[in-house]
Amino acid sequence: MKGIFIIADGLGGRPTDLGGNTCLEAAETPYLDALATRGALGLVDPIGPGIRPGSDTAHLSLLGYDPYAVYTGRGVFECLGIGMDVQAGDICFRANFASVEPFGEDLRLLDRRAGRINEGQKELEDALRSLSIPGVEIEFLASTQHRGALRIRGEGLSRFISETDPHEAGVLLHRSRPTKDEPGAEKTAELINQITQQSYELLRDLPLNQKRIADGKPPANVLLLRGAADYPVLPSIESITGARGAVISGGALYRGVAEACGMDFIPVEGATGGLDTDITAKAEAILETLKDYDYVFCHLKGTDNAGHDKNAADKKAFIERMDAELFKVLIERVDWESTHLAFTGDHCTPIDFGDHTVDPVPVLFVGPNVPRDPGTTFGERVAGQGGLGRFSGRVLPMLLGYCNWAPKFGS
Ligand code: ZN
Ligand code: ZN
Repeated sequence: MKGIFIIADGLGGRPTDLGGNTCLEAAETPYLDALATRGALGLVDPIGPGIRPGSDTAHLSLLGYDPYAVYTGRGVFECLGIGMDVQAGDICFRANFASVEPFGEDLRLLDRRAGRINEGQKELEDALRSLSIPGVEIEFLASTQHRGALRIRGEGLSRFISETDPHEAGVLLHRSRPTKDEPGAEKTAELINQITQQSYELLRDLPLNQKRIADGKPPANVLLLRGAADYPVLPSIESITGARGAVISGGALYRGVAEACGMDFIPVEGATGGLDTDITAKAEAILETLKDYDYVFCHLKGTDNAGHDKNAADKKAFIERMDAELFKVLIERVDWESTHLAFTGDHCTPIDFGDHTVDPVPVLFVGPNVPRDPGTTFGERVAGQGGLGRFSGRVLPMLLGYCNWAPKFGS
């Protein structure tokens, strides 16, 4: 048996999305509806009822873990998702290129994203290779636009430190401080303050930034650091179930979460982690990867981006593209005698609210071991009447259970 697990980020919505219908309900999705007709529907609370999920914690929960027990912060998934080696004891951060100006001994924030810089990041990354503190190994990699990830490795470091990002232009960068009376927290906070200052000194006078200033653009002259995290202790999905899995994702965070759970990353050309992602390429990659793995987890981000932008037309159009470019291909080419599929979101991102909400998300299971229920479309309301009822997290363990890989609890 093979498993396909698809998450459309922020898939769920509210009746306020489009005059009484959610974007998913309003979208024309003949192939998804055909799958719903053959399968069973339900509603899933990604973490639990009334809990408003972040994408990282929701993914951990849907993949079968208790995020309250294992989540240490976002930084580690960003570092893994960008391809860095991360080991126990390392401290990882999400990083932004930002614009600052000196203010006495301090730095004052002008733009948190350096004008969403979209060229020259390699030059910045190269300059930051000179970050140097005795006894500590520092690695920084740029990812997309103003984003990047930073990892520090050394003796006795702690993740219990505050961030330097004040989240507001016009105010001073925060100095990192210990957030817990723990060995190493004081030292790590001081390291982060030094790295912040050094990043400013290394980036300030780069030709790239002189040109940006001459062109009237905000310079990318400092690193803002947040999301401090150490390596989470996660038993791999393979060690729990014996099933070998792979992840297909344009977004670094999701690749990072899946790699932390033991999945192999499958790069796909044209997978951008945005609305413009090449969905057809992802569909082909799922079919190809299934030849070598027991299950594939595929993440699509466009639905969440459109939700945050409060753009119902874009969200509906992205769902319709998934239908035509992904679900059509799977219906026609998957061996449905020996394959199970689960499709859901990691939370709702309703148009009106423009951010994640606590509402449960519709979920669909299809395959030879799944009992059919009467639903013939896929949407929030019909899923509420589905045979799977309403449950919390653990969609991947359920999928692997239908594939007969679930370990028995007890004798
Ligand atoms: Zn999400
Ligand atoms: Zn989101």
